[in-house]
Amino acid sequence: MRCTAAVSKRFFVSTNKTESGRKEPEMNIKINDNFKRIKDSYLFSEIASRVRQYSADNPHVELIRLGIGDVTLPLAPVVVDAMVTAAKEMGRQETFRGYPPESGHEFLKQAIKDHYSADISLSEIVVSDGAKSDIGNLVDILGANKVVIPDPVYPVYVDSNLMNGNNITLISGSRDNGFLPMPDQIEGTEPAVIYLCSPNNPTGAAYNRAQLKEWVDYAVRTGSLIIYDSAYEAFIADDDLPHSIYEIEGARNCAVEVCSFSKFAGFTGTRCGWTVVPEDLKADDGTSLNKMWIRRQSTKFNGVSYPVQRAAEAALSHEGIRQCMKNIEYYRRNAALIGELLDKKGIYYTGGKNSPYIWMQCPDGMGSWEFFDHLLNEVQIVGTPGEGFGKAGEGYFRITSFGTYENTQKACERLNTIL
Ligand code: PLP
Repeated sequence: MRCTAAVSKRFFVSTNKTESGRKEPEMNIKINDNFKRIKDSYLFSEIASRVRQYSADNPHVELIRLGIGDVTLPLAPVVVDAMVTAAKEMGRQETFRGYPPESGHEFLKQAIKDHYSADISLSEIVVSDGAKSDIGNLVDILGANKVVIPDPVYPVYVDSNLMNGNNITLISGSRDNGFLPMPDQIEGTEPAVIYLCSPNNPTGAAYNRAQLKEWVDYAVRTGSLIIYDSAYEAFIADDDLPHSIYEIEGARNCAVEVCSFSKFAGFTGTRCGWTVVPEDLKADDGTSLNKMWIRRQSTKFNGVSYPVQRAAEAALSHEGIRQCMKNIEYYRRNAALIGELLDKKGIYYTGGKNSPYIWMQCPDGMGSWEFFDHLLNEVQIVGTPGEGFGKAGEGYFRITSFGTYENTQKACERLNTIL
C-alpha cells in the first residue's frame, strides 16, 4: 500500500472521547433543515422487507416480480458498437477527448434536435446524465414560487421541492379525471411552477393534445412555468397523443421539457438525458432561464462521458431507433397481456397502452397495502402499492411490464385465479 498513515489520517474527523468512552464528533455545523422534511424511502424498503419475510417463511415458493421500475433488456447492438468505438477513440492520442462542451457534444444535440418534430434550436438543448438529475436540479434556478404537482406522481418532484424549502400544492388524479389532473383543479391564478409527467409514472396515463393545450394556455395566461417530464414518450402508441409539449402551440413561451434515454434506449445504467430550455423563457425580472440553466450546469456538473454521448447519438440513428423500439415492443406485449386480463375481469385501470405501467384499482375495495399482501400471499406476485406515489394512489396498485414475457404470462394465469 502506498497510502501512508499520515496521508490517510487527513480523512478522519477528529473526535472527543466522553467519559463513557463513546466517541462524539466535534463538528458543530448546521444541517439544511429542509432535508428533514423528506420521508425515508419507505415504499421500496417496506416492499423489500415484506418480500424478505415471505421468502424466509416460504423458501421454496417462486415469486413473480411485477414491481420492476427498471428496464431489463440489454442495450441495442448499434448502441454498444458506438460505445466501444468511442472508448477506443479515447485510448488513442489523435482522438482522445477531455471535458465535453458544457451543454453536450454538438453531434448529440443535433441528433436530439432532429428527433423533435417541433422547432428547437441546438442552444436550447442541454445534455445531462439523466432526467432525475435535471428534475432535481431545476429547483436551483427557481425562486420561492407556488409549486403545483400532480398526485400520484414520480416522487422526485415533491422531494426536490421540499429540499429547496418550497411549499407544494398537490392536484389529485382520480378515476373521475382518468388520473390526468387539469388546471381547473388549481385554486387562484397566481403564477406557479407546474410539474407534468406524461405518460405518467405511476399511472401510465398520458395527456392528449386538447388537454395539454389547456395546460399551456393556463400557464401562458397566468405567467406560470411548466416542467414537462417526457421520460416515457417512446412508449406512446396512439398517434393522436403528443410526444413532446412543444407539439402544442404556445409551449415555447411557458415550458421546459426534460427527457431521457433511460426508457427509450435502456440507458438506466448508462446514464444520459437532456433538458430543453427555450430561449423565449424569461423570469419576472427578464432573466433568461436558458442562460441560468447552462450557468447552473456548468458550475455544478462536468458533462456526460464521450462514449455515452456517442452511444446516445447511435440510439437516435435510424437503425438505433429501430433496435430500441424492438425492446419497447417487447414490453408493450407484456403490458397488453395484463391489460387484456383486467379488461376481461372488468377492473378499472389506466396505462398499459402508452406506458410500461398499468395502474389498477384494487378489487373489492381493498387498500393498496392490503392488496399487496393479498397478491404476495395468495399468488406470490410482487407489485407496488399505489399510495407509495402519493395520497391519491390509495386503493390503487402499479404493475409493470419490465419483466420477461414468460413471467408476465405466468403472472396473468395466477391473477386470473383470484381477480
Ligand atoms: N422521470 C420519470 C417520470 C421516471 O419515472 C424516471 C425513472 O423512473 C425518471 C424521470 C428518471 O430518468 P433517468 O433515468 O433519466 O434519470
